[in-house]
This record gives sequence, structure tokens and C-alpha cells, in this order.
Amino acid sequence: MKAIVIDKSGDGQSVSLTQIADAQLPEGDVLVEVAYTTLNYKDALAITGTAPVVRRFPMVPGIDFTGTVVQSGHAGFKPGDRVILNGWGVGEKHWGGLAERAQVSGDWLVPLPEGLDLRQAAAIGTAGYTAMLCVQALERHGLTPAQGEVVVSGAAGGVGSVATALLAAKGFEVAAVTGRASEAGYLRGLGASRVIDRAELTGKSRPLGQERWAGGIDVAGSTVLANMLSMINYGGVVAACGLAAGMDLPASVAPFILRGVTLAGVDSVMCPKARRLAAWAGLAHDLDLGKLEEMTTELPFEEVIATASKFLDGGVRGRIVIPVR
Ligand code: NDP
Repeated sequence: MKAIVIDKSGDGQSVSLTQIADAQLPEGDVLVEVAYTTLNYKDALAITGTAPVVRRFPMVPGIDFTGTVVQSGHAGFKPGDRVILNGWGVGEKHWGGLAERAQVSGDWLVPLPEGLDLRQAAAIGTAGYTAMLCVQALERHGLTPAQGEVVVSGAAGGVGSVATALLAAKGFEVAAVTGRASEAGYLRGLGASRVIDRAELTGKSRPLGQERWAGGIDVAGSTVLANMLSMINYGGVVAACGLAAGMDLPASVAPFILRGVTLAGVDSVMCPKARRLAAWAGLAHDLDLGKLEEMTTELPFEEVIATASKFLDGGVRGRIVIPVR
């Protein structure tokens, strides 16, 4: 079967589109025929070797996929079941979705929810499922549309695009932050009521700024998150999931101790099953599938390696889905 394989070479790594055998697949109680995989920020880091995402070599990258069960020794799944996989170290420690078949633990799989097909679920992918985890974190904190506008950073990227569409579908006013003015029309099409230049959030942050937003979803970290926190209304909440601008957080405690702001961390990789099922049920219910299609680009399997670096340059809009068979 065809697969993309990352291997160690000298001080660095090599990446190739090659053939592997079923017998080489790692242990797992469910064998899945992969229908679609996707390209996420983390996959781009793995394929380019920009960050140490891959923990074991050789590695088949691909942190998510959708497909059909071929064989199962797991009580929860039988041949023919349509499934989704996100995270659990797949594509980092365990061979992932950039191959025609994947063998994984059935405990990691989520059944395809009613209302989505395998391509749509892949188009949502880890980025979209993370966007929903962020939205649900805001809702758990009690945020409602009546409280005011919600700001989303990296809005033209994968997490940001889905977050913008989801919040708009739920009736929130969305302020979409982007570094690409050319994407303003796209973001309004997804439901953003206002588009903000990223430059407004990249300078040195003050401990407290003018209160602008009831809540926020941040994919950037660093000064973007610090500035966002300083401008959240009294009692508001920010869900932080990413580091597109950096790992650091040059902020002060002022928003927390003087405005009662909450910073909610979101992790999709080890997220417990109950929250995954709730996120996927919410996506099937709330996401406008027409908007999902607008934010989705299909990429041939053969072009994945060449496209990965473009991804890290911030040149990709929305979601990239890769048909595998
Ligand atoms: P994308 O590359 O699709 O989107 C990231 C977006 O961030 C870009 O499109 C760009 O949007 C913006 N951006 C890029 N560089 C900068 C910068 N220097 N400063 C501010 N904004 C920037 O990636 P994904 O949406 O797939 O992932 C976004 C982030 O979320 C990544 O850091 C990823 O690792 C993280 N993530 C975390 C998960 C978790 O479990 N916690 C799961 C999934 C993703 P624009 O051009 O509109 O400004």
C-alpha cells in the first residue's frame, strides 16, 4: 500500500512517498481502510521536521483520518463501521493517516456521527474538532451570544475557520483576527461580523487594555494571546489551543485578578472520550456543511510533501483534505 514515511537520515530526516506492507503496521486491535486524511499544522511540522513532533522512526505521519473498519478485535467496532480518528499520538508515536490502511486501538476511534460523511468528517478533522472543543469550553464557562462579541485569532486557518463558522451558527458576533487582509471576504462569508488586522494584537501588551470582547478563541499564543487577554470584558473567558505565533505568553495576571477573566486550555490529543463524542455530536448538529465545503481544499496524496512547507508559511486557507484511495 502507498504511504508517506518519515525516517531519520544523518542529523535530520528524510520524507518519501513509498510502499509499505500490512505486516509492517503497528499493533492495534482495529484495522481501518483510510478514506481521507488531512493536513494539519502539526502534520506540516512533522513532515518538514521543523519541530520534534515525530517521536519514533520510521513514522507514517497524519494525526487524523476517517475510514472504514476492515478487521476488529475490539468490542465497540465491527467490519464496515465508519470511524474517525483524532490524536492519541497517532502520526507522532504510532503510524498515522497518510497511508492506505492504519492499525490502531479501538479505544481511540469515534464512530462517524449521523449527518456527516467520511469526507466531511475529514474536512473538519483535528482542527475543526479542536475548534468545537474551544467553543464548548467557552459555553461551559457560561458564555452566551447576549454577552457580546467573541474574538478568534488565526481566523483564516483551519481551527480559526471552523471556530468562526461555529460561533456564527450559534448566534455569536464574531471578530475574526487575520494577518491576511485578502481573506476578509472569505471570513465574512463564514459569518464573521468584523475582521481585525492581526497587527492590532502583535505589539507589546499592556496589563489591561480597553474591554472589547466577551470571549476569545486563540490559536496563536505569544503576544496575540497576551493582547487578547488584556482586552477581554470583566468575567469573560478565552480558550487557548495553539502556538502559531509562539510558545511564550508575555502577559500579566491583571486580567485574571482584576477582571476575573478565565483562561481555558484546550488539548485535542489526549482529550477524554466523552468530550470527543460531545464535540463530534455538536459538529454534526451545528456546523453549516455549505460553509465547511467553502473552507475545504482537496489535495492529491502525491502533493502532500511539497505542500507542507507552504502550510507553515501561513499560506493555507481553511482545511485541506486528502483522498487516500
Ligand atoms: P493553520 O496553519 O491552518 O492556522 C493557523 C493560522 O494562524 C494561520 O492561518 C494564520 O491565520 C495564523 N497565524 C500564522 N502565523 C501567525 C503568527 N505568527 N501570529 C499570529 N497568527 C498567526 O493551523 P491550524 O488551524 O491547524 O492550527 C492552529 C494552531 O492550533 C496551531 O498552533 C496548532 O498547533 C494548534 N492546534 C492545537 C490543537 C490542540 O490540541 N491544542 C489541535 C489543533 C491545532 P491568519 O492568516 O488568518 O492570521
